Amino acid sequence: MNSLDSLIDRKETIWINQNLEHTEPMSVISGGKFLNVRAAQSRLMRFFPYIEKAFPETAEKKGLIESELIKLDGFGGFLKSEGLDLARRVFLKDDAHLPIAGSVKARGGIHEVLKLAEDLLRKAKLIKPTDNYSLIDSEECRNYLGRYTVQVGSTGNLGLSIGIISAKLGFKVIVHMSMDAKEWKKGLLRKNKVEVITYEGDYSLAVKSGRERSSLDPFSYFVDDENSEQLFYGYATAALRLKMQLMKQKIVVDREHPLFVYIPCGVGGAPSGITYGLKQMFGDYVHCFFAEPVEMPSFMLGMIKGRAASVSELGLGGETIADGLACGKASEFSLRMMRYILSGVITVNDEELSRYQKVFYDFEDIYLEPSAVAGACAMRRLLGSEEYKEYISENDVNENNISHIIWATGGGLVPEEIRRAELGI
Ligand SMILES: *Cc1c(COP(=O)(O)O)cnc(C)c1O
Repeated sequence: MNSLDSLIDRKETIWINQNLEHTEPMSVISGGKFLNVRAAQSRLMRFFPYIEKAFPETAEKKGLIESELIKLDGFGGFLKSEGLDLARRVFLKDDAHLPIAGSVKARGGIHEVLKLAEDLLRKAKLIKPTDNYSLIDSEECRNYLGRYTVQVGSTGNLGLSIGIISAKLGFKVIVHMSMDAKEWKKGLLRKNKVEVITYEGDYSLAVKSGRERSSLDPFSYFVDDENSEQLFYGYATAALRLKMQLMKQKIVVDREHPLFVYIPCGVGGAPSGITYGLKQMFGDYVHCFFAEPVEMPSFMLGMIKGRAASVSELGLGGETIADGLACGKASEFSLRMMRYILSGVITVNDEELSRYQKVFYDFEDIYLEPSAVAGACAMRRLLGSEEYKEYISENDVNENNISHIIWATGGGLVPEEIRRAELGI
């Protein structure tokens, strides 16, 4: 059975990229765009004093928005009881607990809005690159930015990230939400003085409507999840930080010690940005896999077809508990960037997401939203499969020395009563 048939049947499917190319660490991949990642990193650093002042929860890390790399001993024990012994080399990159937005969107979304604010304030001569950016937390700057509106289409988490940071900076904000978006997310945004417009349609419709409405207003800026490069470069900075964390924890990544990374995927911006950064850091020694719900395999479909296509073509696109991944058509930009460096895509079903959500809670005492455990489900699906055996033999992977990183992408802001309902506790 080929991958498309398997997708149509809503089976959990493993697709391996046959176009994967050799990449040297620190080589220039995809046209030297890595300079943009360094620029994003420097920008985030310039904003440390502002972030620290405006979001006191980041004070401990002096304005750095970063998450922990956690060794999963409890979860590793669970896997062992299920017959999968990873020799204690399984880790969680806990972006569910990124400050401010409680999801991976804190990386890309916040970066793009900070860039917009910086560009506007510099042009208005309200700041210089050499200033201490804590002065952006002032009436004068807020009033100036208040002339502009930031708009975004979202299934929820991107809206939260963009909404919270934009409102704090003084921008007017309009978030266009798809019908998958949860009520509590809309409520939280409205509490932050964000205008929320909801649609009786999917994510693509919300993006399209937002894009159109924004284009009518010269003082409006649209954060375009389907095409944005600034989101992508913001996400990619994760790789620079992860490299440091790996070094600190003495986790070696080289030819003899490969790194496998599993990242939940919606439109593709976040996982592609992270993958791009990681391939730049580690080249062939890192192997990145995306995880999607069986109802929304938009990235896998796009990779198979070589262009973005809607999952409705396969009769898919129905409901999934992974609302953060409920995206029917992948980003063209991300697909292009992943063509030769992504290892594969794996789809997972809602039952597994729900099961692993409980496993994380029981064995690690960590709450993750359903979307955020997709990487764990994908890893479980991949390891031991025929596709995996072929992949490691074709790519000369030393299986015994693999470190596995499950990228947990969201859940930090989910209210207590919803957590309890999901976990059945
Ligand atoms: C947005 C999101 C993702 C994936 O990011 P995309 O850029 O849409 O691919 C993964 N997990 C969670 C929880 C998200 O909110």
